[in-house]
Amino acid sequence: MAKVSAAGTKRTTKKVAKRNPLAPERVAAILDVLAKTYPGVVCALTHRNAWELTVATILSAQCTDVRVNIVTPALFKRFPTPKAMAAASLPEIEELIRTTGFFRNKAKSIKGAAQAVVEEFGGEVPRTMEEILRLPGVARKTGNVVLGSWYGIAVGVVVDTHVLRISRRLDLTQADEPKKVEQDLMRIIPRDHWIQFSHEVIHHGRQICIARKPRCIDCPVETLCYSADKTWSRD
Ligand code: SF4
Repeated sequence: MAKVSAAGTKRTTKKVAKRNPLAPERVAAILDVLAKTYPGVVCALTHRNAWELTVATILSAQCTDVRVNIVTPALFKRFPTPKAMAAASLPEIEELIRTTGFFRNKAKSIKGAAQAVVEEFGGEVPRTMEEILRLPGVARKTGNVVLGSWYGIAVGVVVDTHVLRISRRLDLTQADEPKKVEQDLMRIIPRDHWIQFSHEVIHHGRQICIARKPRCIDCPVETLCYSADKTWSRD
Protein backbone atom coordinates (compact mmCIF):
# COMPACT_ATOMS: atom_id res chain seq x y z
CA MET A 1 0.00 0.00 0.00
CA ALA A 2 1.36 3.42 -0.88
CA LYS A 3 2.41 5.54 2.05
CA VAL A 4 0.63 8.90 2.43
CA SER A 5 2.89 11.60 3.79
CA ALA A 6 1.67 14.54 5.86
CA ALA A 7 2.42 16.81 2.93
CA GLY A 8 0.49 14.48 0.65
CA THR A 9 -2.53 14.59 2.96
CA LYS A 10 -2.41 18.39 2.99
CA ARG A 11 -2.21 18.46 -0.80
CA THR A 12 -5.17 16.09 -1.04
CA THR A 13 -7.23 18.25 1.35
CA LYS A 14 -6.32 21.24 -0.72
CA LYS A 15 -7.35 19.52 -3.94
CA VAL A 16 -10.71 18.67 -2.37
CA ALA A 17 -11.11 22.28 -1.26
CA LYS A 18 -10.18 23.45 -4.72
CA ARG A 19 -12.90 21.29 -6.18
CA ASN A 20 -15.41 22.91 -3.85
CA PRO A 21 -14.12 26.21 -2.48
CA LEU A 22 -17.55 26.93 -1.00
CA ALA A 23 -17.68 23.74 1.07
CA PRO A 24 -19.14 24.79 4.44
CA GLU A 25 -16.20 23.26 6.32
CA ARG A 26 -13.71 25.26 4.27
CA VAL A 27 -15.66 28.51 4.77
CA ALA A 28 -15.94 27.74 8.49
CA ALA A 29 -12.18 27.12 8.69
CA ILE A 30 -11.45 30.48 7.04
CA LEU A 31 -13.84 32.30 9.40
CA ASP A 32 -12.29 30.55 12.38
CA VAL A 33 -8.72 31.48 11.45
CA LEU A 34 -9.66 35.10 10.73
CA ALA A 35 -11.52 35.43 14.03
CA LYS A 36 -8.56 34.02 15.96
CA THR A 37 -6.06 36.20 14.09
CA TYR A 38 -7.96 39.46 14.41
CA PRO A 39 -9.94 39.22 17.65
CA GLY A 40 -12.15 42.18 18.48
CA VAL A 41 -11.19 44.30 15.48
CA VAL A 42 -13.44 47.29 14.88
CA CYS A 43 -13.99 49.94 12.25
CA ALA A 44 -10.88 52.11 11.87
CA LEU A 45 -12.86 55.31 11.25
CA THR A 46 -13.02 57.48 14.36
CA HIS A 47 -16.62 58.26 15.33
CA ARG A 48 -18.81 58.90 18.37
CA ASN A 49 -22.24 58.21 16.91
CA ALA A 50 -24.09 56.94 13.84
CA TRP A 51 -24.06 60.34 12.17
CA GLU A 52 -20.30 60.76 12.50
CA LEU A 53 -19.76 57.26 11.16
CA THR A 54 -22.02 58.02 8.19
CA VAL A 55 -20.03 61.15 7.36
CA ALA A 56 -16.66 59.44 7.90
CA THR A 57 -17.68 56.58 5.60
CA ILE A 58 -18.80 59.00 2.88
CA LEU A 59 -15.42 60.74 3.21
CA SER A 60 -13.53 57.44 3.03
CA ALA A 61 -14.39 56.88 -0.65
CA GLN A 62 -11.10 56.90 -2.58
CA CYS A 63 -9.31 58.03 0.59
CA THR A 64 -7.49 56.37 3.48
CA ASP A 65 -9.10 56.02 6.90
CA VAL A 66 -6.02 57.72 8.36
CA ARG A 67 -6.65 60.81 6.25
CA VAL A 68 -10.37 60.81 7.12
CA ASN A 69 -9.52 60.61 10.83
CA ILE A 70 -7.27 63.67 10.45
CA VAL A 71 -10.08 65.68 8.85
CA THR A 72 -13.16 64.74 10.89
CA PRO A 73 -12.29 66.26 14.33
CA ALA A 74 -12.29 69.82 12.91
CA LEU A 75 -15.35 69.10 10.76
CA PHE A 76 -17.40 67.84 13.72
CA LYS A 77 -16.12 70.62 15.97
CA ARG A 78 -17.38 73.21 13.51
CA PHE A 79 -20.65 71.34 12.69
CA PRO A 80 -21.37 68.98 15.59
CA THR A 81 -24.86 67.78 14.62
CA PRO A 82 -26.82 66.89 11.48
CA LYS A 83 -28.80 70.09 12.05
CA ALA A 84 -25.63 72.21 12.08
CA MET A 85 -24.28 70.40 9.00
CA ALA A 86 -27.57 70.86 7.16
CA ALA A 87 -27.32 74.62 7.67
CA ALA A 88 -23.62 74.83 6.76
CA SER A 89 -22.43 76.48 3.56
CA LEU A 90 -21.01 74.14 0.94
CA PRO A 91 -17.75 76.13 0.55
CA GLU A 92 -17.10 75.85 4.29
CA ILE A 93 -17.65 72.06 4.28
CA GLU A 94 -15.51 71.77 1.15
CA GLU A 95 -12.64 73.61 2.78
CA LEU A 96 -12.71 71.35 5.84
CA ILE A 97 -12.72 68.10 3.81
CA ARG A 98 -10.60 69.20 0.84
CA THR A 99 -7.71 66.79 1.50
CA THR A 100 -9.94 63.70 1.27
CA GLY A 101 -10.35 64.15 -2.49
CA PHE A 102 -13.55 64.55 -4.54
CA PHE A 103 -14.38 67.15 -1.92
CA ARG A 104 -17.08 68.99 -3.90
CA ASN A 105 -19.18 65.86 -4.39
CA LYS A 106 -18.52 64.70 -0.85
CA ALA A 107 -19.55 68.10 0.58
CA LYS A 108 -22.80 67.94 -1.38
CA SER A 109 -23.45 64.40 -0.14
CA ILE A 110 -22.74 65.28 3.50
CA LYS A 111 -24.92 68.38 3.46
CA GLY A 112 -27.69 66.52 1.60
CA ALA A 113 -27.49 63.58 4.01
CA ALA A 114 -27.67 65.98 6.97
CA GLN A 115 -30.77 67.65 5.51
CA ALA A 116 -32.43 64.27 4.93
CA VAL A 117 -31.58 63.08 8.46
CA VAL A 118 -33.09 66.26 9.92
CA GLU A 119 -36.13 66.58 7.67
CA GLU A 120 -37.09 62.93 7.13
CA PHE A 121 -35.74 61.08 10.15
CA GLY A 122 -36.05 63.46 13.10
CA GLY A 123 -32.30 64.07 13.37
CA GLU A 124 -31.40 60.35 13.75
CA VAL A 125 -29.61 58.21 11.19
CA PRO A 126 -32.22 55.57 10.26
CA ARG A 127 -31.79 51.90 11.19
CA THR A 128 -32.95 50.13 8.08
CA MET A 129 -31.14 49.66 4.78
CA GLU A 130 -34.13 50.88 2.83
CA GLU A 131 -34.22 54.18 4.75
CA ILE A 132 -30.50 54.78 5.04
CA LEU A 133 -30.15 54.41 1.26
CA ARG A 134 -32.38 57.48 0.95
CA LEU A 135 -29.56 59.65 2.29
CA PRO A 136 -27.61 61.34 -0.52
CA GLY A 137 -24.14 59.84 -0.95
CA VAL A 138 -25.06 56.67 0.94
CA ALA A 139 -24.85 53.43 -1.01
CA ARG A 140 -24.99 49.85 0.29
CA LYS A 141 -21.42 49.84 1.56
CA THR A 142 -21.96 52.88 3.79
CA GLY A 143 -25.34 51.49 4.84
CA ASN A 144 -23.74 48.23 5.92
CA VAL A 145 -20.93 50.03 7.77
CA VAL A 146 -23.31 52.20 9.80
CA LEU A 147 -26.00 49.58 10.42
CA GLY A 148 -23.42 46.92 11.30
CA SER A 149 -20.72 48.83 13.16
CA TRP A 150 -22.87 51.31 15.05
CA TYR A 151 -26.30 49.73 15.40
CA GLY A 152 -25.10 46.10 15.36
CA ILE A 153 -27.70 45.24 12.72
CA ALA A 154 -26.50 42.69 10.16
CA VAL A 155 -28.40 43.27 6.94
CA GLY A 156 -25.47 42.64 4.62
CA VAL A 157 -21.71 42.38 4.32
CA VAL A 158 -19.50 45.43 3.83
CA VAL A 159 -17.69 45.01 0.51
CA ASP A 160 -14.86 47.50 0.16
CA THR A 161 -11.75 47.10 -1.97
CA HIS A 162 -10.10 44.73 0.56
CA VAL A 163 -13.15 42.51 1.01
CA LEU A 164 -13.63 42.31 -2.75
CA ARG A 165 -9.99 41.41 -3.47
CA ILE A 166 -9.60 38.87 -0.68
CA SER A 167 -12.97 37.20 -1.25
CA ARG A 168 -11.86 36.60 -4.83
CA ARG A 169 -8.39 35.39 -3.82
CA LEU A 170 -9.98 32.94 -1.40
CA ASP A 171 -12.45 31.83 -4.10
CA LEU A 172 -15.43 32.81 -1.98
CA THR A 173 -16.75 34.58 -5.07
CA GLN A 174 -15.94 34.85 -8.76
CA ALA A 175 -17.78 38.16 -9.10
CA ASP A 176 -16.08 41.51 -9.44
CA GLU A 177 -19.04 43.78 -8.81
CA PRO A 178 -19.48 44.68 -5.12
CA LYS A 179 -23.23 44.03 -5.05
CA LYS A 180 -22.78 40.55 -6.49
CA VAL A 181 -19.81 39.82 -4.20
CA GLU A 182 -21.96 40.80 -1.23
CA GLN A 183 -24.75 38.46 -2.34
CA ASP A 184 -22.27 35.61 -2.74
CA LEU A 185 -20.81 36.23 0.72
CA MET A 186 -24.25 36.47 2.32
CA ARG A 187 -25.08 33.06 0.87
CA ILE A 188 -22.06 31.26 2.32
CA ILE A 189 -21.25 33.13 5.54
CA PRO A 190 -23.55 32.67 8.55
CA ARG A 191 -25.40 35.89 9.36
CA ASP A 192 -23.87 36.20 12.83
CA HIS A 193 -20.43 36.54 11.17
CA TRP A 194 -21.36 39.19 8.59
CA ILE A 195 -20.29 42.24 10.60
CA GLN A 196 -17.07 40.84 12.04
CA PHE A 197 -16.01 39.13 8.81
CA SER A 198 -15.68 42.48 7.05
CA HIS A 199 -13.69 44.04 9.90
CA GLU A 200 -11.33 41.06 9.95
CA VAL A 201 -10.85 40.93 6.19
CA ILE A 202 -10.23 44.67 5.99
CA HIS A 203 -7.49 44.31 8.62
CA HIS A 204 -6.12 41.27 6.79
CA GLY A 205 -6.05 43.28 3.56
CA ARG A 206 -4.16 46.14 5.15
CA GLN A 207 -1.60 44.05 6.96
CA ILE A 208 -1.07 40.80 5.04
CA CYS A 209 -3.09 40.26 1.88
CA ILE A 210 -2.10 43.56 0.35
CA ALA A 211 -3.12 44.31 -3.21
CA ARG A 212 0.16 44.35 -5.11
CA LYS A 213 2.30 41.88 -3.23
CA PRO A 214 0.44 39.78 -0.66
CA ARG A 215 2.61 38.61 2.24
CA CYS A 216 1.57 34.98 1.87
CA ILE A 217 4.51 33.76 3.96
CA ASP A 218 2.93 35.47 6.98
CA CYS A 219 -0.67 34.61 6.11
CA PRO A 220 -2.71 32.59 8.61
CA VAL A 221 -5.09 31.31 5.90
CA GLU A 222 -2.35 30.37 3.46
CA THR A 223 -3.10 26.65 3.65
CA LEU A 224 -6.71 27.38 2.69
CA CYS A 225 -5.80 29.71 -0.17
CA TYR A 226 -4.97 28.71 -3.74
CA SER A 227 -5.03 32.11 -5.35
CA ALA A 228 -3.02 32.40 -8.56
CA ASP A 229 -1.22 35.49 -7.28
CA LYS A 230 0.13 33.92 -4.10
CA THR A 231 3.74 34.94 -3.47
CA TRP A 232 4.61 31.90 -1.35
CA SER A 233 3.23 28.46 -0.67
CA ARG A 234 3.85 25.80 1.95
CA ASP A 235 3.50 23.07 -0.70
S1 SF4 B 1 -2.18 33.23 1.02
FE1 SF4 B 1 -1.60 35.18 0.11
S2 SF4 B 1 -3.14 35.62 -1.44
FE2 SF4 B 1 -3.98 34.02 -0.08
S3 SF4 B 1 -5.14 35.15 1.49
FE3 SF4 B 1 -3.09 34.84 2.28
S4 SF4 B 1 -1.93 36.70 1.73
FE4 SF4 B 1 -3.79 36.62 0.46
